[in-house]
Amino acid sequence: MAIKVEDLYKSFGSLNVLQGISTEIDRGQVVALIGPSGSGKSTFLRCMNLLETPTSGKIFIDGVEVTSRKTDIMKVRQNVGMVFQHFNLFPHMTVIKNVMYAPMKVKNTSEEEARKVGMDLLKKVGLEAKANVYPAQLSGGQKQRVAIARSLAMKPDIMLFDEPTSALDPEMVKEVLDVMQDLAKSGMTMAVVTHEMGFAKEVADRILFLDQGKLAEDSPPELFFSHPKCDRAKQFLDNIL
Ligand code: ADP
Ligand code: MG
Repeated sequence: MAIKVEDLYKSFGSLNVLQGISTEIDRGQVVALIGPSGSGKSTFLRCMNLLETPTSGKIFIDGVEVTSRKTDIMKVRQNVGMVFQHFNLFPHMTVIKNVMYAPMKVKNTSEEEARKVGMDLLKKVGLEAKANVYPAQLSGGQKQRVAIARSLAMKPDIMLFDEPTSALDPEMVKEVLDVMQDLAKSGMTMAVVTHEMGFAKEVADRILFLDQGKLAEDSPPELFFSHPKCDRAKQFLDNIL
């Protein structure tokens, strides 16, 4: 099992954002996290790579309790890649340097090796030809594909995506979803917060529906989209489909 979450709570002051989430994600599984704005989707993802410290509960990654005090948080973050809505590429570095940076800095990978791995990844996301340009010269979709390649350069076991296409112009959404679909097919364990229901339906193995910090439903997509179990999910789907 890649990820196990046990009774996860997260509060910000008096605001109880996550209220007892328990779930497991198998190795190679793709899970889509869906739910109303403010339901805790981002907070849930951020807890999984310890960008947020849970208030209580446990999270295990590859069998290791990452919520334990003894855990090396930087190691966990290396193993759990994250892609955000806003790409946050380093503007003063070329595309290939963006991808090479973390392995060289954090893992002491040689420049030669980092470049080789980086070029392979740029090829994978269809941006080999852009290796030597600066982020400002890229479209939003291209920037997000670089951000994915940069994250993959650390060779993570798990990838988290938080609305990776929400900031993109509509015509660029597909090129990013295609890269994510390829990644899913390659066997990557993925948790994806998304409003792209087509992607969720086609690519995800499970839909996790969050409502007010609780896991209101956990169903295979074909079931979730045709026969949602909880009323809140029904209402949510009625509003967006
Ligand atoms: P979602 O991603 O589902 O829209 P979030 O996880 O971003 O929801 O947020 C859930 C709730 O937690 C929201 O009410 C949000 O304002 C609040 N929240 C998120 N992060 C913080 C923070 N760092 N400090 C205070 N409140 C936060
Ligand atoms: Mg969010």
